[in-house]
Amino acid sequence: MAHSTFQQTAKLLRQLPGIGRKSAERLSFYFVSDKKKALALSNAIQELVKKMQACKTCGLISESQPCKICSSPKRTRSLLCLVKNAQDALMLERSLAYQGLYHVMGGLLSPLEEVSEEDLNINSLFSRAQALSLENKAPLEILFAFEESAEAEVTMLLIRQKLQELKNLKFTQLGVGVPAGTSLSALDSHTLKKSLLHRTALNTLSDTDTR
Ligand SMILES: [Zn+2]
Repeated sequence: MAHSTFQQTAKLLRQLPGIGRKSAERLSFYFVSDKKKALALSNAIQELVKKMQACKTCGLISESQPCKICSSPKRTRSLLCLVKNAQDALMLERSLAYQGLYHVMGGLLSPLEEVSEEDLNINSLFSRAQALSLENKAPLEILFAFEESAEAEVTMLLIRQKLQELKNLKFTQLGVGVPAGTSLSALDSHTLKKSLLHRTALNTLSDTDTR
């Protein structure tokens, strides 16, 4: 019964994150049964691919360059939140509790997943933090919004070492409510809000950290 177009669609769907064989086949059957919805989805994906791109300043996904958040006069420019990926920033936006700027790091250091320093947006972070810290009289707050993991710990340490020569910075991280090993995208808005409100200051780097 299944012929090649069907199989090809199911095969492509299976390559998407979170879609297994059964779901891929179920969706393919659904597309055949509701052609209107299937075409609407296909159009939406084409538009998305055509119009959305990473903001050259912060790395969020946007239709404009720079993105709405980077160019908004309403956002607090003395607060820069570092997120692992654009999806985590979306979660924080959804909580409605964050009014600062973002910088997407593009991952966390991980020898297992072969993510090294060069894969992270550290150089762009350095120049941005430098520019923002000069722009404001108040110290620039660098807020780490990473999950609690060993990867996050080493990434935070590396970033702090890289930014060490910049003056007028203060480092904080999300507070209570983020359980160890939980990614931000798994948290509800309420927890994120609480975590943002109760963010904690990080101690200054000691000599042993920088060696
Ligand atoms: Zn931006």
